[in-house]
Amino acid sequence: MKILEEQIQNCNRCGLCHGRRKAVLGEGTIESPLVFVGEAPGRKEDEIGRPFVGSAGRLFDGLLGQVGLGRGDVYITNMVKCRPPKNRRPRSDEINACSQHLDEQLDAIAPAVIAPMGNSATRHFQRKFGLERLRIGEVHGEKFRVSVSWGQAFLFPLYHPAAVLYNRTLELELRRDLESMMALVR
Ligand code: SF4
Repeated sequence: MKILEEQIQNCNRCGLCHGRRKAVLGEGTIESPLVFVGEAPGRKEDEIGRPFVGSAGRLFDGLLGQVGLGRGDVYITNMVKCRPPKNRRPRSDEINACSQHLDEQLDAIAPAVIAPMGNSATRHFQRKFGLERLRIGEVHGEKFRVSVSWGQAFLFPLYHPAAVLYNRTLELELRRDLESMMALVR
């Protein structure tokens, strides 16, 4: 992870390197069987170099706590490591350019469950694993067994905490999905 951290801080594989303050590798324990993957760092994350530190991050921390987990028990990262300008969605060329960093991270952690959060991250993994492209509203809380370099794992899409901030009715669904996900690693 230290080598990867150095690589992303010096990476210029895509244009997002020009606007970043800090590339954000991820946070948590590499011993975790759970890896959560969001879309991209936002303004606050770019400032301090940590993932999920804004209001969506606080909401997510609270939900993790409700299922008995803390930040230190899981690993959290994003598909792209540098903030897109004005928090726009990362483009496919940027996601592709950064996917090698994400793959190396996942190889190093070898989790039992990869949990993409939101449509963008879910689509990335659906494409990667040759799964049907369905929207997050159709696949959240479902498990998909996938072949990975370290054997087998589950892909387990979740709503993005930022979506929950805009639509609080999703909070209960995200919490239920987290509980179902926990059953896979107990
Ligand atoms: S987003 Fe990824 S590929 Fe693009 S510059 Fe940052 S670390 Fe490199």
